[in-house]
Amino acid sequence: MDCIFCKIVNGDLPSTKVLENDKVLVFQNINPETPVHVLIIPKKHIASMNDVQEEDLALIGEMHRAVQEAAAELGIAESGYRLINNCGPNGEQTVFHLHYHLMGGKRLGALTG
Ligand code: 5GP
Ligand code: ZN
Repeated sequence: MDCIFCKIVNGDLPSTKVLENDKVLVFQNINPETPVHVLIIPKKHIASMNDVQEEDLALIGEMHRAVQEAAAELGIAESGYRLINNCGPNGEQTVFHLHYHLMGGKRLGALTG
């Protein structure tokens, strides 16, 4: 499958890993927009939030647990952060392998839409 995040999971593309377990990978965004900007992905290929199935709900929980762990590891748990999922055209999704952006390290400002 021609999916860059699957290639990162498989080790066919390099990444800077923050944490990893058998279900979830957290790695540095190649083009960070904030001082801390990492991506949380399931190792299983799921194209977008729209494609999450009933059987994936525990995996979504694992992703949220990884957010907590990565935030602590990266030192932004107390200062706070933003967790974003871009879905589809209006969400400006560019990589069609489910991911959360975990962003922090500065005041991010109010959402403006
Ligand atoms: P999206 O717009 O789909 O929500 O976000 C995709 C994100 O993946 C972007 O922030 C982009 O910088 C990041 N990205 C795209 N290709 C790569 C890559 O090959 N390696 C890493 N580490 N990040 C990538
Ligand atoms: Zn994939």
